[in-house]
Amino acid sequence: MNRTFEQRRYLIPFRTGLLPQIFCDTLVLGSGVAGLRSAVGAAHNGQVIVLAKDSLELTNTAWAQGGIAAVLRSNTDQGDSVRLHIEDTLTAGAGLCDPEIVDLICTQAGERIEEIIDWGMRFDRDDGGHLMRGREGGHNAHRVYHSGGDATGAELQRTLIDRVQEHENIRLFDRCFAIDLLTLNDAPGSPVLGAMTWHPKYGLQVIWARTTIMAMGGAGQVFRETTNPRVATADGIAMGYRAGAQLADMEFVQFHPTTLYVPGAARSLISEAVRGEGAHLLDHAGNRFMPAIHELAELAPRDVVARAIVRQIAQQGGKHVWLDCRHIEHFANRFPSINHELRSFGLDATQDLIPVHPAAHYMIGGLRTDARTRTSLPNLLAVGESSCTGLHGANRLASNSLLEGLVMGAIAGEQAAARADEGPVSPASIVSAIEDSSHAELDLDDVRSSLRSCMWINAGVERTPTRLDDACDMLDFWGRYTLDKIFETPEGWEVQNMLTTSALIARAAASRACSIGTHTLIGDASDEDRTRCFEHAVWTRGHGEPSWVARIPDLQEHARGRKPTIREPNPSPRVSEDA
Ligand SMILES: Cc1cc2nc3c(=O)[nH]c(=O)nc-3n(C[C@H](O)[C@H](O)[C@H](O)COP(=O)(O)OP(=O)(O)OC[C@H]3O[C@@H](n4cnc5c(N)ncnc54)[C@H](O)[C@@H]3O)c2cc1C
Repeated sequence: MNRTFEQRRYLIPFRTGLLPQIFCDTLVLGSGVAGLRSAVGAAHNGQVIVLAKDSLELTNTAWAQGGIAAVLRSNTDQGDSVRLHIEDTLTAGAGLCDPEIVDLICTQAGERIEEIIDWGMRFDRDDGGHLMRGREGGHNAHRVYHSGGDATGAELQRTLIDRVQEHENIRLFDRCFAIDLLTLNDAPGSPVLGAMTWHPKYGLQVIWARTTIMAMGGAGQVFRETTNPRVATADGIAMGYRAGAQLADMEFVQFHPTTLYVPGAARSLISEAVRGEGAHLLDHAGNRFMPAIHELAELAPRDVVARAIVRQIAQQGGKHVWLDCRHIEHFANRFPSINHELRSFGLDATQDLIPVHPAAHYMIGGLRTDARTRTSLPNLLAVGESSCTGLHGANRLASNSLLEGLVMGAIAGEQAAARADEGPVSPASIVSAIEDSSHAELDLDDVRSSLRSCMWINAGVERTPTRLDDACDMLDFWGRYTLDKIFETPEGWEVQNMLTTSALIARAAASRACSIGTHTLIGDASDEDRTRCFEHAVWTRGHGEPSWVARIPDLQEHARGRKPTIREPNPSPRVSEDA
């Protein structure tokens, strides 16, 4: 990483002793599935604060459509098993999953689904009252539980918000922006003591916590084309990096093949389930192009379909291809939310072809954790999309991320509740003494939109070494004149976070010299480079280059400088069949 991205420890100058102070046992940063499930667990013992930078409901979680993958006791008699779910996850991950984590999450899936049903989540049921199960790309069985047809995330978010709102130990701070994690000092591995936050009404506040749980979601907004809501600006990943936490697998970003392409409008997801119901992709001459590319045609793995669309657009010109749903019966009933979205643009799925285009969808990399959600920094746990547990490897199996949030959130909550017995952290006198730079200024809105275009064009679906190096140069340039400034509102901090995370993604992509999973590199890697294909690149601020690890060490032992425990290596790589 360029020095620009290595230098800054905090985004703003402050003295903790001069600011309002708030105390809690567990501080949960983020109100998506991972954060809220963590909060419920942590509240069994101790006072919990949950932060969301916008409303509690504006999360990737609430936008999820397809469902939650799980094998329940009730469906093992129908040819499915936890073992098969594990195998499908490992296959999708293309040899880079952590098998222990895959085993843990798939094994606990049923319990977490039954729990969330007990808490009031309304999954879709058939006329006999049985839970309905969908099937998505990469799954060899029907095991995706959904709500409201294509509105699973909204129902999950509602259920969890109801749960936390009724808990007397949980305080909810919406529209409260986390700027930075506070650490005792700037030395590597220094314990996390809470976070510096900003609220439009109350200004800067310090929140001290025995345990901080990072659950700040993904990074979709660093790409011009994304399915993610506007809050997904990678703040958590950048905050973790500044605080010295290890990040892993930053080059792996999943691109979804089919989002609605209407110039000027946000890209809304057209779920894979629509192709699952038989929708076809057509070129501008009205011909299907997927059957010639993959035996599964439109249901080929997500990365295969996304690449095929990008190549089709490059050949034929224009900005999109077409999705033909005209032959799908009862479209409006099966996909009510998508139908509503299409209608808002005057499109009728039974009559019109739908313009579609790929977009950044899911951030696989993030704060590296172990099976207990511990990061490399004491007192800091990480869950959900801003973490990197090793579940997804190099490519995420559809509908496994809400599941990861539920399972790992429950584990993080338990950890935090147990730690509350250690008593409150002592507030420290932390001083961030940075001065504003006198160097030239760039227009913030221009930097934001230019970096998003740069990332989409050069670090998107298809990448080349030259373009990645050029992207790194551009990001360095914008970083030099943006990361040296001091901003007073979220607009500036978000751009600084987006720049840092973009630079990590681009640098990580440039470092991985072979195509694997979601990382498609055009151009051959040397044999020497290929030996790194099945290793993980780990990034830590101050180190400049990644360290490559073949296996997952115990992170807390690593942080204390002891010899890491080595787990068994990943299984041999297989072709990804994720969709
Ligand atoms: C359109 C769409 C469809 C999807 N469909 C599915 C699906 O069907 N199945 C599936 O498994 N997955 C799906 N996913 C992925 C899944 O929704 C996400 O990976 C998952 O919800 C992430 O949960 P999370 O709790 O980690 O983060 P989020 O749900 O994104 O929550 C992040 C939280 O962090 C807060 N935050 C961020 N920055 C700050 C800050 N600086 N200060 C304070 N708070 C902050 C936000 O306000 C928010 O509360 C989909 C994603 C999208 C976008």
